[in-house]
Amino acid sequence: MKLKPKHNWLHLDLKGAIPNPEKMREQLQFWKECGYDGVVLEYDDRIPWKTWPGTWRGGYTLEEQQSLVRTCADLGLEVIPLIQVIGHLEWLLKHEDWRDWRENGSGNELCPLHPETLPRLKQWIDEVVELHPGIRFLHLGADETWNLGTCEKCRKHDPMKLYQEHVSELCRHALGKGCRPLIWADMFWNEKRLDLVPQLPEGTIPVDWQYNGIPPYESTEKLMQCGREIMGASGAMIGWWEHCFQVQSEPSGRIRNVTGWYKWAAEHGIGVIHTTWTRGASLWNIYGPWHGAYPAFVAGGDPARWESHPWRTFMEELSDTMLRSQVPELRKAAEELLTLPAASPLEKEVLRWLNLAVRYQALQQEFLIHRATRRTLTRVADFVGRDDGMFRKNCVKPFRTLLPKVDEWEKDARSFWQDNGLSDAEEFMATHIDLLRKDIADQLAGNV
Ligand SMILES: [Zn+2]
Repeated sequence: MKLKPKHNWLHLDLKGAIPNPEKMREQLQFWKECGYDGVVLEYDDRIPWKTWPGTWRGGYTLEEQQSLVRTCADLGLEVIPLIQVIGHLEWLLKHEDWRDWRENGSGNELCPLHPETLPRLKQWIDEVVELHPGIRFLHLGADETWNLGTCEKCRKHDPMKLYQEHVSELCRHALGKGCRPLIWADMFWNEKRLDLVPQLPEGTIPVDWQYNGIPPYESTEKLMQCGREIMGASGAMIGWWEHCFQVQSEPSGRIRNVTGWYKWAAEHGIGVIHTTWTRGASLWNIYGPWHGAYPAFVAGGDPARWESHPWRTFMEELSDTMLRSQVPELRKAAEELLTLPAASPLEKEVLRWLNLAVRYQALQQEFLIHRATRRTLTRVADFVGRDDGMFRKNCVKPFRTLLPKVDEWEKDARSFWQDNGLSDAEEFMATHIDLLRKDIADQLAGNV
């Protein structure tokens, strides 16, 4: 029999561009077919929490959320809700009502010693459990709390001890509700405090997330010796350095990471969560839609299925092309994407998205080249003089020819967004193609 991880879950971060309920149901069906047995739903402010009135940013109504939970049950996908209980609460702490919960003024995390936080977080856990009847697991987040122990009250304590006690109290509350809590393990590892892991309540599952390279990782192996069942986490879609001027990272690194984790988890009898991040954090820009993670989704569901997928070789070449970032190569790859075989309507949309993503990279790259040319020739003129005709041809005209391509991209991207029922079209356009258009306009206006 083929070895599988103990759990093979897909994490879905709802912060970014999310599909409407109908399209979400289609995606859930696809993920089930990929081979996942659970979905970790990170809601953020995408549903109207009773515990946090006034924070709902739009996304799903409670009726829609309930209906999606039922769809998961019908499909045989276990739902594991994920809420953040200390760090990454930017979406909450940005609101005036919760401003004084901040740890030393930081918008990233709350103060664990603020008297209101624990009772309210317990109330939130109760609400989550009510919205997900019968759940066996609840993920309590707790990663990247960089400001631990910095406020006046907290400064008097061992920061990691504060963290462990705060998290443990909430884990106990979840256990009391009949669900096993999971928490991200990075704080214990990064702060070199694995000694605190055995003090987490029995039944708590620390999760070691490692998104680069492939296991084994020292952190996972050390964590496994702490006397708790652990899980691993891969990155099917994560942040990358270029995300402010690209809409898609190259697929190969993600495929390697999810495949590596799947195999290692299977061999070591642990579960794995494949994560899909749709923004760097709540107050960062949107990455592309989930369509861009399609190869990683297939590979994370079952590596063998990706191995025999007709797109496999092309995606490896595409990754190299994206890393080289040469405009003619990118344009050619964008064209070729549309000629690949699509075995389902979803695959057709994936190719459509990747075509847009590669074209976007080409547009940005063209802009950078033209801007550099213009700046350089402007300086050269100070030393050796300039020819106006040559300057117009090489330093002005290229920006004019770029503008219609920008308009065409936006038109195609908007129709992709609409056909796929995706949220946040205006934000996505305003923070991507519109900024590029403004950069070009600045060049044409001579504001260089
Ligand atoms: Zn504090």
